[in-house]
Amino acid sequence: MKYVSTRGSAPALDFAGVTLAGLASDGGLYVPEAWPQFTIDEIVAMRGLPYAELAARVMQPFVGESLAPKRLRELTEQAYGRFAHTAVTPLVQLDEQHWLLELFHGPTLAFKDVALQLLGLLFEEFLAREDSRLTIVGATSGDTGSAAIDAVAGRDNVEIFMLHPKGRVSDVQRRQMTTVRAPNVHNIAIEGSFDDAQAMVKRIFADEGVTASHRIGAVNSINWARLMAQVVYYFAAALQLGGPERKLAFSVPTGNFGDVFAGHVAARMGLPIERLIVATNVNDILHRALSNGDYSTGTVTPTAAPSMDIQVSSNFERLLFDVGGRDGVALAEQMRGFEAAKAMQLTNAQREGAAALFTSARADEEETSRSMRWAYENCGEIIDPHTAIGLHAARAADVSADTPVVTLATAHPAKFRDSVERATGIRPPLPNRVGDLFAREEAFVELPGTYEAVRDHILANAS
Ligand SMILES: *Cc1c(COP(=O)(O)O)cnc(C)c1O
Repeated sequence: MKYVSTRGSAPALDFAGVTLAGLASDGGLYVPEAWPQFTIDEIVAMRGLPYAELAARVMQPFVGESLAPKRLRELTEQAYGRFAHTAVTPLVQLDEQHWLLELFHGPTLAFKDVALQLLGLLFEEFLAREDSRLTIVGATSGDTGSAAIDAVAGRDNVEIFMLHPKGRVSDVQRRQMTTVRAPNVHNIAIEGSFDDAQAMVKRIFADEGVTASHRIGAVNSINWARLMAQVVYYFAAALQLGGPERKLAFSVPTGNFGDVFAGHVAARMGLPIERLIVATNVNDILHRALSNGDYSTGTVTPTAAPSMDIQVSSNFERLLFDVGGRDGVALAEQMRGFEAAKAMQLTNAQREGAAALFTSARADEEETSRSMRWAYENCGEIIDPHTAIGLHAARAADVSADTPVVTLATAHPAKFRDSVERATGIRPPLPNRVGDLFAREEAFVELPGTYEAVRDHILANAS
């Protein structure tokens, strides 16, 4: 399997290559040269498989020669063995038509664990083979940081420097990062906002004074391997709800468009999917783009669902490439225009291509709260604000009554307990497996909000 860049000029790479590369050298994102296909019979034969085995089956065509099937199976076993539920991503029924797909049973209670637990193992595997080391540098406003740290803590040949804006992540989120005590984990609290931290990380990637001596890696969802791991649970859910003979719709709380793009990949591979509903909060660039072609940024409004408070959705570029004719040269020009003007209009081909599978909806703060209340009062389910936005969009969607609608539940409600308590009156407890979070010792350094301070700290502490 070869991977090509959405901007057409970076070299094609194999799976091991894209896993370690992150962003393509032409600024684009890697996508498979062609989508692997399963026949309906092949999908039927996956029914009843344990999650780790299903994962290996669905991912093997993407991995190609980079890993032997037996080795891939060992890695999925190890990654998903750490989940607190044997089904890994269990389904919960809400009413006749609506279901939740719980993606938060991993070590840090966020759906990002599903992909990052595997990614940590893939890094270790491919780096050992090349006898090389990777220094991951990232910025987080909360969930990505803890999931990435948990995934690489104690692994060989890889270390992680994670920046968070001092005082601006919740206590639970900070402690999930800073109480992980491993020599290859470096937590940094910097003065400033998440955007300041993110800008510093971008500079590190472009600083030859750093990259000449260190191979710098990324863990955000521009990494293809993360999206690939997320394709699996669309198959898992469909197989349990009558697929592939019956079509399903999925509603996905969306930020960077990674999770819902994985649904598009599942459909491309032959899984019958009726509809993918892109759910946004008031930061609704994707809702506007999908409903009238207007892809223009505004300012970010903080909401109860911070992981969806975005201006630009990096993975949307992958969809535009795939449905817009796979013309990297034209897309590179379109994206350059977007980066200059902070706005663009989708082409007709992109709009029509997206409309074949995607619709969208947005929820404001009041609708988010109401959705949490509805789930609790009518179904006895406590859900987090991100999931609530997905559920709001699912219930508003015009889907025929005999099509099951699955809302992806992306975070455990205990991660956002203040919002949950305000909406429902219930303060969800942290699950037992993280229950001693507030008793564990924290370790992090505090740095001023200057690029030099961050760079010097990384150079002094990276091995
Ligand atoms: C990251 C995240 C999202 C958004 O996922 P994308 O792949 O960026 O669209 C939604 N909900 C939660 C809880 C998240 O952590």
